[in-house]
Order: sequence, then C-alpha cells, then structure tokens
Amino acid sequence: MSDVVERFMRYVQVDSQSDPMNEAETPSTPCQHDMARLLERELSELGCEEVRRDEHAYVTAGIPASKGAEALPALGLIAHIDTAPAAPASGVRPRIVRYEGGPLLSGSVATTPEQCPDLELFRGQDIVVSDGRTLLSADDKAGVAEICALVARLRANRDLPHPALKVAFVPDEEIGHGARLLELHEFGATWAYTVDGETLGEVSYETFNAAQADVVVTGVMVHPGSAKDVMINAITVLHELDALLPAWERPEHTEGYEGFFHCIGIEGTESGATASYILRDFEAAGLERRKREMRDAAAFLNARHGAGTVSVAVRDEYRNMAECFDGIGFLVENALAANREAGIEPVVRAIRGGTDGSQLTFRGLPCPNLATGTYQAHSVREFVPVASLEATVDMLEHLVAKFAVAQR
Ligand SMILES: [Zn+2]
Repeated sequence: MSDVVERFMRYVQVDSQSDPMNEAETPSTPCQHDMARLLERELSELGCEEVRRDEHAYVTAGIPASKGAEALPALGLIAHIDTAPAAPASGVRPRIVRYEGGPLLSGSVATTPEQCPDLELFRGQDIVVSDGRTLLSADDKAGVAEICALVARLRANRDLPHPALKVAFVPDEEIGHGARLLELHEFGATWAYTVDGETLGEVSYETFNAAQADVVVTGVMVHPGSAKDVMINAITVLHELDALLPAWERPEHTEGYEGFFHCIGIEGTESGATASYILRDFEAAGLERRKREMRDAAAFLNARHGAGTVSVAVRDEYRNMAECFDGIGFLVENALAANREAGIEPVVRAIRGGTDGSQLTFRGLPCPNLATGTYQAHSVREFVPVASLEATVDMLEHLVAKFAVAQR
C-alpha cells in the first residue's frame, strides 16, 4: 500500500465530523482535536519546522525550501480536518474494492454508472469506499493525506525542488468557518492552494457571490370564523413571496454559471412566519439583482397587504474570488501544468459554492482550489480511486517545483 493510501485509510477512521448546531465554538466538536493531535504528531515526526496546534484545532507547520529556493515566497497548502454533517460520519470503515464494472458497492449501497458516468474510467482499478453506513470522509481526509504524503516525500528526498512550504489543517470548513481563525501573518505564505476539490484534474478559482435573505412576515390573526376581509395569514403571504421568485432560478433547475434563489428554511404560524433564502450568483451584479428582486417582492406584498407585513434583511456571505486573480494568473497556470505533468487532463471548473479559499483570498492570501480525486462527497456513496490519491500527490510534487523558481 502506498504512503498516501495508508495515511488515507488511517485518517478516515478518526472521527472529526463538525456540528452546524454549535457554530459558536471552534472546533464545533471536541473530536476534531483528536485529528489535530494526530496530524501535529505526524508532521513533527516528518521533521517539519514550527509545528503548531492551537486550542481551536488548527495545525500549521513549515517545510524549509530546497537548496537555491530559500529566497522565494512561501507557498501554502491547506486542507480541512472536519467531515460533513450531511450523513453519519462516526466509525468509518474504509475498504478497498476492485471495480469490474456495473454498480460500485459501498456495503449494501450501490452507485450505478448512470448515477456517476465517470465510474467507467475506473474499471479494473482499486477504489476506496465506506461500508455504506457512513461517509467515506474523503472530503477532506483525501486532501489531508495527499498533503502529508507530499511532505513525507519531500522530507525523504531533499533534492526535490520547492520553496518554503506552509501547511495548514483547519477545522469546521463544512459549517463555513474553516480558515476563519487562521492567522495569516503567522502562517507566512504569499499564496496558497486548498486541496479540497472533487474530480481529478479540477482547478477552481471562481466561486459564487453569496448572500442570505431572511424574510419576516407579520400576519393579522382573527378567529377563522369571522376572518373575512380581515385575516392576513402569514403562511399564505410567504407562499406568495416564494411564488414571486423565478421558479427556473432554483438550484434544482440550474447548473454551470447559473445562479439561484434557494429557500433553506421556513417556520411559523398564521400570525407570524419566517423564511431564509440563500442567493447565489457568479456575477456581483447578478447577486445585486437577486437581492433587489427579494426586496421588490416584499414591497409588492406590502402594497397588497399593508405596510410592515413583509420585511427582508439581506446579508452578504462571501464573494467570487475570481476578481482577485488579476496579475496572479500563474497560480492557475501552474496548477494546470502540474496536472498535465502528472498525467492528468486538467479542467478549470467554477465552484457552485464557496471554499476556505474564498475567504482567504479576500483576506489577502490568494488561494485556488485543487482536486483530491474524490466523488460523491457528503454521501454514504462517497468514493476515491486509489490511483487518484496517488496521482494527486504526484501533481502536488510538480506544483511545488514550479514555485522553486521566481514567478512573473
Ligand atoms: Zn471539503
């Protein structure tokens, strides 16, 4: 078993699921400390410098530059240690299966080639799956294992070229807090990559612009028997608001560069009701248009039902990091070239969501996202081909070599 596969099989068996109901604390779950402690120990054993683990389960470490690259800017590599709350993730039992075509079985759970057309690419290959009860936790233990395997390789072969490397493993990415407490000045990287993508070869530097709109409807409640021309049912008004938003701009009807309105929660009675929507668009102007449409819908309903019936509060969440990449396109170019050198056909793909990289980029650390080779993240059907784990480490080796010469 190769080093990266051995690490991956081990890391996924350490529980580290995050908890969206405990956002106030970082990490949101105590078990993430176990993963952080393990990585602190392993990075120290690999001879990294300045290995640090803090009370929030952030682990950082440095690897000195290879000979001749000491004066060049440091490059960061970042992955997250938590796993998604979307499915059970405790007691992961990974297994390697030989895929011979047809449905891929994770225990008793099947993924068919119709559900995942790329499966055909892996016929005759070994694939890591869970036992079907839990996530595999490849998101993002694959990224963690790939970075650690790269570090081990660089420490074992000091002739491999690379600038000073800064590694960060962060908690709570899946609940939106991943890199929030990463102190960038201390971290010391000039640019970085997150290793947290999916399909092999994907390089991403575009994300949505994101906002959330919280709607409050105040109804007029009277006895239903004598309600004629008086009652304003808050639930009905919420229905009206939802119907005013374009139905074709919902996640289930959009793809690629199309944005959406998505209702993520609704609560209430006839006398008062609330709803939350997330608004997403790759264009800043498109996001502004969606915010306006929410407010226009509220204004229309207030004209119909009376002032103060509907209010909408909008707050921005994150922005498309693409706007920060002017003049540093080499971050994307180097990633594409490193993939090709590792025998992987690269593709630039916009992320229909955000990453740790979105907030890091806006805080001043430009940070595209690289693939880990994983499929069907956030599901018990999650899988990763063994060869994809190994190819990603090769790709990272080629990538860091590119930063061992000055960038223009
Ligand atoms: Zn992830």
